[in-house]
Formats: sequence, C-alpha cells, structure tokens
Amino acid sequence: MERVLITSAIPYINGIKHLGNLVGSQLPADLFARYNRGRGREVLFLCATDEHGTPAELAAAKAGMDVAEYCAKMHAVQAEIAQGFRLSFDHFGRSSSPQNHRLTQHFAGRLADAGLISEVSERQVYSNADGRFLPDRYIEGTCPNCGYDKARGDQCENCTKQLDPTDLIEPRSAISGSTDLQVRETKHLYLRQSSMRDQLNAWIDSKTDWPILTTSIAKKWLNDGDGLQDRGITRDLDWGIPVKKGTQEWPGMEGKVFYVWFDAPIEYIACAAEWVDAGKGSDWERWWRTDMGAQDVRYVQFMGKDNVPFHTLSFPATILGSGEPWKLVDYIKSFNYLNYDGGQFSTSQGRGVFMDQALSILPSDYWRWWLLSHAPETSDSEFTWENFQAGVNKDLADVLGNFVSRITKFCRSKFGEVIPEAGAYGAQEARVMADLQARLDAIKRIWRR
Ligand SMILES: [Zn+2]
Repeated sequence: MERVLITSAIPYINGIKHLGNLVGSQLPADLFARYNRGRGREVLFLCATDEHGTPAELAAAKAGMDVAEYCAKMHAVQAEIAQGFRLSFDHFGRSSSPQNHRLTQHFAGRLADAGLISEVSERQVYSNADGRFLPDRYIEGTCPNCGYDKARGDQCENCTKQLDPTDLIEPRSAISGSTDLQVRETKHLYLRQSSMRDQLNAWIDSKTDWPILTTSIAKKWLNDGDGLQDRGITRDLDWGIPVKKGTQEWPGMEGKVFYVWFDAPIEYIACAAEWVDAGKGSDWERWWRTDMGAQDVRYVQFMGKDNVPFHTLSFPATILGSGEPWKLVDYIKSFNYLNYDGGQFSTSQGRGVFMDQALSILPSDYWRWWLLSHAPETSDSEFTWENFQAGVNKDLADVLGNFVSRITKFCRSKFGEVIPEAGAYGAQEARVMADLQARLDAIKRIWRR
C-alpha cells in the first residue's frame, strides 16, 4: 500500500490561532490527509504545539502560571479546538515532549561530530530596564532588509528575512519598549549551515515539481549573499531542551537550552514517536528512517510562506548534516496570507476571527468549506464577513443544500426512503458518470497522483 506522511506547521503555544493560521497549514493538510485516505493510502498525519522560547515564558508569567503548567493547559485548549474543526491528526504532539528532548539532543550530537557546530562568543542584547537578555522575538526594530519598522529579532514578517537581534536598526525591548539596551558577550552554539549551501542548492534543484512560491523563497534566501548565514541554536533561557551532545553533557553549555527554531521541526519526527508511545501506532521509524522502511513514504509538508526558509534550509540542514538516513520532505506546499477585512489578521492585536470564536458562531463545516475554497494559493486572499455570508448562502445553502434536499425528498416520495438497487443505466446516467469520472481524473492530475 502506498504511504503518505503529512505534517502541518506546528502552531505556537501562546494563545488561540486565527483563521489565517488555520487556512495556511492545518486545514489544507487535513484536506490532503482525507483525500489520501479516501484513495486507500496509508496516512500518518502529524501536528503538534510549538512550546519553547521566550513568548511561552512571558505568556505564562502574564497568566501567573508556571511555564510547563501553562503549556500543558494551552496544548489541551488547542487540541480541543482542533477537534472542533475536525482536523484529523493521527497525533497532536508537543515539542516539549521527552521524545523531542532526546531527538533534539541526538541531532545536536551528530551535527557536532560532523563538524557542523561551532562555539562562538555571541553579542546578545541585554535590557537594563527589564533586567534580562532579550532574545529573538522580544526585540523589535527596523528591518535592515526592507525597512519594516516592526521587525522582530528573529525574523521580519514583512519580507520573511531571518534576522539576528543585533541586525535590527533602532532596536527596542518588546516587553517594556525601552531603548536602554546593551550588548553583552555570551557563548553559544552555531549551526554551520552556510557550509551546506551546495548540498541544499542541489537538493532544491532536484525538486522540479514544487510550487513556485516555495522554490522562489528557498532560492532567494539560499543564493542571496547573506541568506544562509550560520545561526545560533542555543539561548540563555530556563524553559527549553537542555543543551547536550546526545546523552553527554556539553562543557560550557550548562544552563543553556536549544533555540526554539532548532528543536521545533525535529518535533515532526518526535511526534511520530509520541504517536507510538501513546499506543496509537507502532514502528515510527518505518515513517522516518529510509533504512527502516521510509524509503517508500511520500512526505508532504504544509505551511505559510513565512515558514518556508526554516523548512527548505534550516531543517534539511539538520537532517542532511546528521549523516543519518532520515526522511527528507518530498513536497512542500506553502501558502500566501489570508487577510482580514482590508488588513492583516493579528494575534497580538486581537484582529480577525479566532478559531474558538469561529466555532462559537457557526459549525466547523461552514468555515472549512469557505476557507478551503478561498485558500491563498497563488496570491493573498481576503476574509470579509460579507463575502463569507454571500458564499455560504449561495454555494453551500442554495447550490449544495438544495441539491441534497431535492434528491432526498425525491427518494423519499418515490422509493419510500430506501435507495433502489442499481439496475441498467440509461444514457443520462452514463453521461453523469462519465462527467464525474472526468472530474475525478482532473483532481488526480492536480494532486499529481
Ligand atoms: Zn524586512
């Protein structure tokens, strides 16, 4: 039987996701999983919450909770909402799982053995007003690449460039807004991904069937002068996966954790181990190790365009660099943004429709249908309430609803609620069947298989 491994970009733990997040990864991944199951294929569909990093720590502090406790609670909330939307994950895991701790430390050890990790003294931003280091997202400033004035320390969400906090122009603390910042020395591990440029280039070149959106973003960061810089994979934080070389201590790295971007994609693999440990399946290596059965698996990832650099460069660098036979992605389906009523959805500003609100307003099928039929594949698309209302009334209620209603009423009045045995088909039935078959064939061509 053909086997398909499907992962959706993993949502961050600090709050409820909006409809733009949903249509950019989880929902189309769910559609693809259902399609493949319908074709009789064996599917493993995985998603998880992304739980490490400063935003989780700060959200927990704000909620007056211990960070582990906060993450457990928010994971349960997100899992329940995913169920409400009938997202058919085989497992919804957690990047803070023991399985991910072990695998992340394992990959770091392999990369170190392969000479792909260097120890460097890093200049990191310290906020005097906040009394702490300000890693990645907790520094804001102007993007040196495009001039966007609300770029975060890890990435500019306007132009998708991956950044380091010290790259920002006119940086300020995102916690307090303070500009009383100072750069202090601290020692960190770097992944030498720039040394893998040729290998990554060749791998991406071999993917001739990828969507243009995916390859164009990957190639831009790969070949742009500084697009594939070596990146820090550790942070001075308490919450996260302790830095170890496999199962060994890592001298000089005591008290540090891996940086969330390094451990989050490894959760795709760890999630399969969680799935087995939860008693839902067996033999996860069969999906992930090409020396243990995964050579026949087709692996498809779904994500918004801002996640493409991590999935086309950083995560493959981790996998290729390990020198072990882990499964690499076969196809990356990326999406543009869904906008909200003339602007962007924004979690921080509470702007848009959030998944829990949506379910409290209407059943999930209304949202699933509208979002999938307006998925931002070739360009950004827009949600407006008027559009949503008109689409639901016209296509769902009038066209599909009336069709189903008439057929069932007709069956009831003519056949007494029993669907009649199929007899010989007439010319009209044959025409309908041929038409349906042609459409099914067209769908198979679009999905390529
Ligand atoms: Zn930018």
